[in-house]
Amino acid sequence: MKQIRFLFCGLLAAGTMLQPVQARSEYPGYYGGFGSADYCQEKTVIVSIFADDVNCSWNFNDDDDYREYSTAYFALQKGVEWVEDQIHNRNGSASIVWDWYNNDYMYYEAHFDEEMLSGNGNTWQLCNEFIEQNIDCEWITNMYCADNIVFNFYFDGEGQDDTWAYCYPCWGVVPDDSYRYEFAVFNCGHTYDPTPAVYAHELLHLFGAPDYYYGSEYIPQSYADYLQDIGATEIMFGYEGVNYDYVDAYFSDLTAYYIGLCEAPWEFYEFTLRESLFDQIS
Ligand SMILES: [Zn+2]
Repeated sequence: MKQIRFLFCGLLAAGTMLQPVQARSEYPGYYGGFGSADYCQEKTVIVSIFADDVNCSWNFNDDDDYREYSTAYFALQKGVEWVEDQIHNRNGSASIVWDWYNNDYMYYEAHFDEEMLSGNGNTWQLCNEFIEQNIDCEWITNMYCADNIVFNFYFDGEGQDDTWAYCYPCWGVVPDDSYRYEFAVFNCGHTYDPTPAVYAHELLHLFGAPDYYYGSEYIPQSYADYLQDIGATEIMFGYEGVNYDYVDAYFSDLTAYYIGLCEAPWEFYEFTLRESLFDQIS
């Protein structure tokens, strides 16, 4: 089976220098200081945006496009329910509203006059601008009595299988006001539609989990190598195969730690990992 990886969440990082830790209360206007995803143990709204760019567009009268759209809906559902289950299994509380069929204002369409899947660095800014100009986040969160809001952009691109999350741990920096909105970008048009595991993985990024499959500011290469050696199928490491029926991965103590559910586990000390955002800012 082809090994699926979740790809380059740090690829577009504007800078990898660590920034000084700021107190959470210094950013009261930015959803508590952790970006719009803030803390998983609250109520979160996921807004879905089906987007076109200069190279690709959605046509829901086309069978292929409609299938990809439907796959996104059901895979997102399974990914979200799995994340909620993992949090509940650890005695956490979480409520995630995402269903754009049954909730108003969770579905948008967008058109961008640029290449959005090329990784050239504009995607982050253009998605931010779209959110800023078109989505009344405060109104939506108030309407659903939610604390947090995140955004999934779906493109129907050919030839690229890039799926990114744009969030604090992905950029290796602590929150500041230039990273207000946290969102993920999915390419539904490549060889593989994003699976439930991909949706779960990207959502966990938004809540604070980093990737484990390459060395970064958070994870030394030795830890990535260790997971490779033991054949880990951890959700932030990656997994074998393509499964649309369920999330084909497990949820580790370390991921629970990074999203603020528990204390640091043994791996944190053994491999000298970086503190979670919650520990950095507490
Ligand atoms: Zn990732």
